Amino acid sequence: MAFKLTDLPYADSALDPAVSAETLSYHHGKHHQAYVDKTNKAIEGTGHADKSLEEVIAAARGNDQGLFNNSAQAWNHGFYWHSMAAEEGSISDELQAMIDKAFGSTDELKKKLAERGAGHFASGWVWLAVKNGELTIEETHDGDTLADKDGINPLLTIDLWEHAYYLDHQNKRPEYLDAVLGSKINWSFASDNLFGCLFARRVAHKVEHIVREQRFTEDEAHQVRTPRMFEQCGQDKEDRNRQKRPDHSPYP
Ligand code: MN
Repeated sequence: MAFKLTDLPYADSALDPAVSAETLSYHHGKHHQAYVDKTNKAIEGTGHADKSLEEVIAAARGNDQGLFNNSAQAWNHGFYWHSMAAEEGSISDELQAMIDKAFGSTDELKKKLAERGAGHFASGWVWLAVKNGELTIEETHDGDTLADKDGINPLLTIDLWEHAYYLDHQNKRPEYLDAVLGSKINWSFASDNLFGCLFARRVAHKVEHIVREQRFTEDEAHQVRTPRMFEQCGQDKEDRNRQKRPDHSPYP
């Protein structure tokens, strides 16, 4: 089953003027589409064809740079679209407490994300993530991703490639970062991702317990599991490989 480019979770003009409809039309319609198409072409007829996108990324890492770049970029862009919104959502109490602990305030966190994003050399991504139960800002280069990394769970990301901002802000990456961080961050998405990470281990334990007692078949248990929750929450590889590709995954 081929991966499909999912629709943007908002209207083309929703992020204007931080990110214009024109930028989105190229960035989503051309760049993201190309990453998905090239991933599909590379896995067609191979042992990767029925894997989830995260499994493809993990298998390609260190083994097939072309497939890794395209599959990781397919995932990163889906995650990026959801990291932004027309209006900032609200930050959950849990996330706010972790932000205050790690950065002092949300404004300070935004400042740090802008600094790290502006200082990142060449193309890549800046991430807010959870590592060892604490918030951390991470950078990945080129197409690299946190999607398949164990023990580190992304909450949101911002694309630092020039194609993300050149039409709107030319070479002024700091201006783009300030505009996105100023009012277009989807804090509800970040809060949901944090909730998933904290909740997943408890739910995973419970589901496994039920399966072991044979109250559910493996297929029924799969319905109970929330795929995104598992994919992003530092599951060990064995757990993750049991997941089937979710029909409703936004990534894509
Ligand atoms: Mn991009």
